[in-house]
Amino acid sequence: MQLSAPSKGYIDTVTELVDFLRSRQVSARHINEITDGLQKSSMSLKVTPHILGMIDWGQIGTDPLRKQFLPFNSEFKKDHPMLRLDSLSEKRSDIGGGIIHRYPGSVLFMIGKTCPAYCAFCTRSYIVGTDAGGIKKDKITSSFRDRLKVLAAYLERMPLVSDVIISGGDIASVSTAVLDAVLNMLLTTATIKTVRLATRGLTFCPVEFDAGSKLYARLCEHQSDFFKCGKELSIQCHFNHSSEINILTEKVVKGLVEAGFVIRNQTVLLKNINSDSSIIRDLIAKLISLNIQPYYVYQMDMVKNAEHFRTTIEESISIYNSVTGFFPGFLSPKFVVDLPGGGGKKNICAYERQESRDGTYAYTSAICGERRLFYYYDPLN
Ligand SMILES: *Cc1c(COP(=O)(O)O)cnc(C)c1O
Ligand code: SF4
Repeated sequence: MQLSAPSKGYIDTVTELVDFLRSRQVSARHINEITDGLQKSSMSLKVTPHILGMIDWGQIGTDPLRKQFLPFNSEFKKDHPMLRLDSLSEKRSDIGGGIIHRYPGSVLFMIGKTCPAYCAFCTRSYIVGTDAGGIKKDKITSSFRDRLKVLAAYLERMPLVSDVIISGGDIASVSTAVLDAVLNMLLTTATIKTVRLATRGLTFCPVEFDAGSKLYARLCEHQSDFFKCGKELSIQCHFNHSSEINILTEKVVKGLVEAGFVIRNQTVLLKNINSDSSIIRDLIAKLISLNIQPYYVYQMDMVKNAEHFRTTIEESISIYNSVTGFFPGFLSPKFVVDLPGGGGKKNICAYERQESRDGTYAYTSAICGERRLFYYYDPLN
């Protein structure tokens, strides 16, 4: 599909987007819904031709991709009073320069702060992307080389950390040289046994991972190096709906599986997008058919300007209940809530108590000493 800005490979200005929407016969009313919605979003406009090509413009009101990337003005709701920017308190677990150490055995390294496209519900809206929706994004001030040195030195001091997640931002938005530098360092760090590459690139721009691409060639080489050293290099992808997967995605995933990658998927439960047991069941079945492990289904975090994406805990548990038992146990996703305030991920059903009838749930966190309570608040009506 030809877009007005083929040289960039994505659309990130309202003018380009409006031209594109007009070319798809989108009505003036819906165009206004989108341009006004973009003013409210915490994430700036950035979409790929691949995403735009998969949206059903005839069903613009309900299309699951349109809703995730081009929210309508009328969809937004007022933020919950208890909602905070950086709701997971990641900054408190940041040892410096986007190196987040929350769980004893794992470190998350933000390789960059950009993605090939921006999801309107992004949990890291405090840092990922450019300023939007009245939010001034945090900057990563030190250079990549310096941050890599800090990471290497930190891992030396932390022998209990055996797992590193390379996240972001997105690995599909950094050069292969940057990726090479991180992976080579981790390969030679004896204590590191597993490395996970977190990317939404398979949803945004699968072609960049296609056999024949530079990225694919580099990934295959790293995969083989890790394998020879008895370490696991895996991919964590992010699909929320089976309509995010087309023939090209299937081909690309097959190529990665053939290269030896274990691929695990993370899904966010999104109100009126995938908050339905048959949609989640279809997605899981699709993932399994592609050899992707359905790893997590997340309760949507309490993110600024993204209130309309949240389901209630009760809705999410009901989806969990209606999915359980349909798939092999090791291919059944865990339903988790990442506890606001930094308690980490917790089984969504494992709350201590429901504080009141208005949907306040109290959870404990083993990594924070079991005593402190962490609260998740349902969206208000
Ligand atoms: C989710 C997460 C991890 C990894 O968690 P797993 O349950 O091992 O997948 C590590 N660090 C941070 C900060 C995270 O948010
Ligand atoms: S891909 Fe991930 S980090 Fe990037 S905008 Fe989407 S949710 Fe945020």
